[in-house]
Amino acid sequence: MRCGGALVISCEVKINDMTYDLTVVGGGPAGLSAAIYAVRSGLNTLLIEKGLCGGLLNEIPQIENYPAFKSISGMELASKLKEHASEYAEIRELEEVLSIMRKGENFVVKTEKGEYETRAVALCTGSRKRKLGVEGEEKFLGKGVSYCATCDGFFFKNKRVLVVGGGNSAVTEALFLKNIGCNVTLVHRRDTLRAEKYLQMRLLKEIPVRWNAEVRRIEGEERVQRVVIYDKKRQREEEVECDAVFIAIGEEPNSELASQLGVALDPEQIHNYGQAPKDECSACLRRWGCRWRSSSGCCCLC
Ligand SMILES: Cc1cc2nc3c(=O)[nH]c(=O)nc-3n(C[C@H](O)[C@H](O)[C@H](O)COP(=O)(O)OP(=O)(O)OC[C@H]3O[C@@H](n4cnc5c(N)ncnc54)[C@H](O)[C@@H]3O)c2cc1C
Repeated sequence: MRCGGALVISCEVKINDMTYDLTVVGGGPAGLSAAIYAVRSGLNTLLIEKGLCGGLLNEIPQIENYPAFKSISGMELASKLKEHASEYAEIRELEEVLSIMRKGENFVVKTEKGEYETRAVALCTGSRKRKLGVEGEEKFLGKGVSYCATCDGFFFKNKRVLVVGGGNSAVTEALFLKNIGCNVTLVHRRDTLRAEKYLQMRLLKEIPVRWNAEVRRIEGEERVQRVVIYDKKRQREEEVECDAVFIAIGEEPNSELASQLGVALDPEQIHNYGQAPKDECSACLRRWGCRWRSSSGCCCLC
């Protein structure tokens, strides 16, 4: 069995008589980076991923801001990261971590397939898409409401789609949809975008934006047919006909495992990632001489 070590904590896992130094939960960019660093630091490391390695990377059509790759698809980068991490750590995909319990000085990581004992755990569980919380959002999920242009955009080629949001994700999604032939409008609740300037320039050249507009309801019969927006300047509701709504308004952290373990979450660290664990984690990281953040993700340790 290969070992690994990267960020975080102190652990010794016993999976079939094996005790790991570190178990990394989550195989996104943060987890894969953590695993590489951990093994290279001399830690016997296991990485557990509930789906396929890559995390959100798998949903990104094109990445153009990752040094050394002028332009690369998210899936290709994910595959390269996984290949690299596999050289070091033991990786188990398609295995969800259900709970983590303390066992004396160690932890027991329970998955759908078994239990692993470990001296430390690195939680690199990433985030999930934030919901708008409006009428029709849940009803039309998969029937015109989507959180992933790469996954669902193809079905709306030559159709009218709205993208909701104003950050990098929303702008990237809008450009991708435009590129595959959708008739795209961006709906943003403010009068400026948060996305990086380069993306903004590209967007504004080819995609109309409904500024100061809040989505109030998503309506239709069987599928999405229109969105009701509230124009904050004119102070009135307006119907916008469309076939799909792509919602890209940020993420919320998957911090349930950390909460379950009693790790203190820091409400001041909310930002895009929601609450992040505080002192205990950074202390662990310091102890191991590791970095708090890896390439592109927030890494929580306990
Ligand atoms: C549309 C879009 C475009 C983006 N564009 C860019 C870009 O151009 N450049 C850039 O740098 N970033 C971009 N990002 C952001 C980038 O994808 C994220 O910052 C990065 O993926 C975060 O990495 P992570 O490892 O922290 O989390 P994630 O990628 O979310 O990975 C977390 C992993 O943990 C796993 N997991 C969660 N819970 C469990 C559990 N209980 N058991 C086992 N596994 C679990 C998940 O399945 C997932 O694979 C984009 C994101 C999106 C959505």
